[in-house]
Amino acid sequence: MNNQIVINIDKISALCKTRGFIFPGSEIYGGMANTWDYGPLGVELKNNIKREWWKFFVQQNPTSVGMDGGILLNPLVWKASGHVDGFSDPLMDCKACKTRHRADKLIEAASKGKVNADFKPNEWLEKWIADNKVKCPTCGKIDWTNIRQFNLMFKTFRGVTEDATNAVYLRPETAQNQFVDFLNVQRSMRLRVPFGIGQIGKAFRNEITPGNFTFRTVEFEQMEHQLFCREKESKDFYDLYKKKAMEFYTERLGLDKKKLRFKDHEHLCHYAKMACDMEYEFPSLGFSEIAGTHHRGTHDLSSHAKTSGKAQDYTDPVTGEKFVPTVIESSHGCDRILLACLCNAYSEEAVTADSKDSDGNRVVLKLHPRLAPYKVAVLPLQKKEQGDMATKIYTELCKDFPCTFDDTASIGKRYRRQDEIGTPFCITVDFDTEKDNTVTIRERDTMKQERIAVAKLKDYINERIK
Ligand code: ATP
Repeated sequence: MNNQIVINIDKISALCKTRGFIFPGSEIYGGMANTWDYGPLGVELKNNIKREWWKFFVQQNPTSVGMDGGILLNPLVWKASGHVDGFSDPLMDCKACKTRHRADKLIEAASKGKVNADFKPNEWLEKWIADNKVKCPTCGKIDWTNIRQFNLMFKTFRGVTEDATNAVYLRPETAQNQFVDFLNVQRSMRLRVPFGIGQIGKAFRNEITPGNFTFRTVEFEQMEHQLFCREKESKDFYDLYKKKAMEFYTERLGLDKKKLRFKDHEHLCHYAKMACDMEYEFPSLGFSEIAGTHHRGTHDLSSHAKTSGKAQDYTDPVTGEKFVPTVIESSHGCDRILLACLCNAYSEEAVTADSKDSDGNRVVLKLHPRLAPYKVAVLPLQKKEQGDMATKIYTELCKDFPCTFDDTASIGKRYRRQDEIGTPFCITVDFDTEKDNTVTIRERDTMKQERIAVAKLKDYINERIK
C-alpha cells in the first residue's frame, strides 16, 4: 500500500475534522472563509507546540524573558510601524468567476516558483500576468481587473461613535508589543543588551485569498522572539537564530530535515538588512513559509521614538553606553507549524501484526511523543471483567500524563483509533493483570508489545516521552 499513498491537504483536513483536531469555523452557519476552530485534540497539540517554543526560545534561552501584550494598541503604533500606510496585498479580481487573487502569488504559481514577485511595483506585476497569459486558478479564464492595494489590518472602533478618530486595529503581528514595551522590560528586569523578549499571541489579517486549510487564516497565533543587540554583533545573532530555528523544528518538534529549507528574501523591505524564510514542504502546497528570521536594524525602535516623541535609547547599566539596539527577529506561525507537524506525522501503512479486524491498513500519526495530544490510552480487554482495574490505572496515570480511556469495540479497532490520533502508548489491561499486576504496553510506531509491571508504568512512559 505504501507505494500508492497520496497524501494531500484534503486528507489531513478530513482526519482533523473526524478526529477532533480542527473544525471549520462556524460550520452550522455555512462556515466563514479562512476561519477554523481547534477541537479537543487540536488544542492539546497546539498547547504542546507553544510550550516547546516557550521552553526553547524563552525559558532555556539564558538572556531571554517573556511577555504577553495586548491585541489592541494605540493606533499610532501601526502608523509608526508602517502598517497603516504599507501593509497591503496587490489583489486582482477574476471578472469571470468573481474570485480574488494575490498578483504576486499568481506569478509565483504560474512560474512554478521561479519568479519571485515580492515587492515588485503593480505595473510590473500586471505586465507579467498579461505577457504570460496567466489564467485564473479557479475558472481557467483570463479576464483580470487591474491591481488594487488592499490593507490587511482589521479595523474596529473604540467607544460609542464609529468615526475615524476612534478607529483601532486588531494587531496584524505580535512583534510591536515587544518594541513598545522594550524599555519597560529592560528597566524592570535590569537587562543588559544583548537580550531577547519572547511572546506568543493572536494576530489578525484580513486574508481574502484561498487559505489552504489552516495555512492562511484571518486569525492565527504567532510565536515571536526579538533579540536586541549591538549592530556589530547582529550578523552573528542573525546566523545563530537561523540555526536555532532549524534546531527547534528538527530536534524539538521532530520535523523531517529534508522537508525544511531556508529561503533568503530576494527583495528586502527598506529597513531590513537580511531576511529569510523557513519553508516546509507541505503536501499539495510544496515548499511554503512557516517562519522567518529577520534583521530589522533599528527601524522599529527609531520609528517609535520619532512618532511618540519618547527616546527609545538603551543605556547600559554598567558602562553607561547609550544607543538604539539592533533587532534580530525570529518569527514563527503556530498554526502553520501545527499543520506541518500533522503532515510530517501522517502515514498510511499495511499491517497485520496486532489486529484481526484490520483490513490490513492503518493510518498513523507519528507525532513526536512530546507533541501527541494523549500520551497514553488505557484499554481494558473486556469491559465487565477488567473495567474497574483499568479505571484505577487510568485515574492514576492521569495525574502525570494526558490520558484517554476506551472500552468500546475490539482491541484492534481501539489500537487503530489511537494510531490515528498519534497516541504513543496503549496499555491493555487483561486477565493476567489481576493476578500479577502487569499490563501490556504497545508502542505506536513499532507496534511492539511488552509486559510491564503497573508500578513501573509512570517511569517507563516518562523516559520514552523525553
Ligand atoms: P505570507 O507571505 O505567507 O503571507 P508573511 O511573510 O506575511 O506570510 P510574516 O509577517 O513574516 O508572514 O509572519 C510570520 C509568520 O506568521 C509566518 O511565517 C507564518 O507562519 C505566520 N502567518 C502569517 N500570516 C499568516 C496567516 N494569514 N495565517 C496563518 N499564519 C500566518
